[in-house]
Amino acid sequence: MTEAFLPFAKPSLDQAAFDEVIDCLKSGWLATGPRVKQFEEMLAHYLNVPHALALTSATAGLQLSLLAIGLKSGDEVITTPLTFVATLNTIAINGAKPVLVDIDPATYNINVERIEAAITERTRAIIPVHFAGLPVDLDPLYALAEKYQLRVIEDAAQAIGAKYKDRLIGSFGDIQVFSFHPNKVITTGEGGCVSTRDENLAKQISVQRFHGIDREAWNRFSKNGSQHYDVIAPGFKYNMMDLQAALGIHQLAALESIIEKRTLLAKRYYEKLSGWPELTLPTLPAFSHRHVWYIFAPLINPEAAGMDRDDFILAMKEQNIGIGLHYEPAHLYTYYQQQFGYRSGDFPQAESVGSRIVSLPLFPDMTLEDQDRVINKMAVVFKRK
Ligand SMILES: *Cc1c(COP(=O)(O)O)cnc(C)c1O
Repeated sequence: MTEAFLPFAKPSLDQAAFDEVIDCLKSGWLATGPRVKQFEEMLAHYLNVPHALALTSATAGLQLSLLAIGLKSGDEVITTPLTFVATLNTIAINGAKPVLVDIDPATYNINVERIEAAITERTRAIIPVHFAGLPVDLDPLYALAEKYQLRVIEDAAQAIGAKYKDRLIGSFGDIQVFSFHPNKVITTGEGGCVSTRDENLAKQISVQRFHGIDREAWNRFSKNGSQHYDVIAPGFKYNMMDLQAALGIHQLAALESIIEKRTLLAKRYYEKLSGWPELTLPTLPAFSHRHVWYIFAPLINPEAAGMDRDDFILAMKEQNIGIGLHYEPAHLYTYYQQQFGYRSGDFPQAESVGSRIVSLPLFPDMTLEDQDRVINKMAVVFKRK
């Protein structure tokens, strides 16, 4: 009997979420409405911030955040080359330049010590990315931002529930952007949100996510609402649907147990794979933190493994195991080379990690037997005895 294909990620949705979606469909309110409002209140409460704004994606959140801080053509924004390309795309599409700073090869996060040297008169903001759900070292980063009067937009797409020291990511600083894509820690299908303590930023993001209209759309149709509205800025169509929020309400309620399961699986990978010369396991920083294990991403050591990363992914696929790739460094993409002159060799740590990194299967509904199967198949692929 052949075993079923095991994907590297899969959303874990419970019966309450399924029921909520059916209730939402039956209610007739599919677009932004009471369930989005409830989800936003839950997010704001969980993150302990005054403003949590639900959106269609984290990409939309990055775009709206960059507009809200007043990013202009010719500005520079400092970020990492080891991220999903949306981080860079949203900078570039506004006519600004993503100025990249190499990663710390231990944590795969931006090397905060190297940021200061990249700051120029054009620098407007820093976008740290909490890679895999492990927080960037934020105290020195925010100290720099204050010294140079820079905005910080945390790309927390992978990091809902993560803690820096004892503080939840999203509960301090300027703006955080979260993703609820199906592969992420929790999901609404597509979806995302922005959290901020800043009233003005919240107002602008709220207005520009819906055509620049200065009022929640659903008020207009409620008993006390009027059909009139004003437009105070050009805006997008980035509002979350109630159908999405129906999932989010129950995913957020399950977040702590989801993080527990992700952490258990990560710990077991550390236990079972430690000492394998074919792999370099991820390193954890010295500061106290809570990692949320969006992915468990070791590096393949090609010499010891007898194969490179791409061969490993193919070999595991033949064993019915899905392996993810997060990410090849963004400065190697054609657009970023042509537009900004980036070249192979510019960020050697990101290139070394990006050419060897793999994401092993890890999702809340994965069983320990599933995980043992992954490890056994890795032993087969590496021809371990
Ligand atoms: C997934 C991801 C995004 C984009 O999230 P979407 O919700 O799919 O737009 C942005 N940045 C990082 C670091 C991500 O992992």
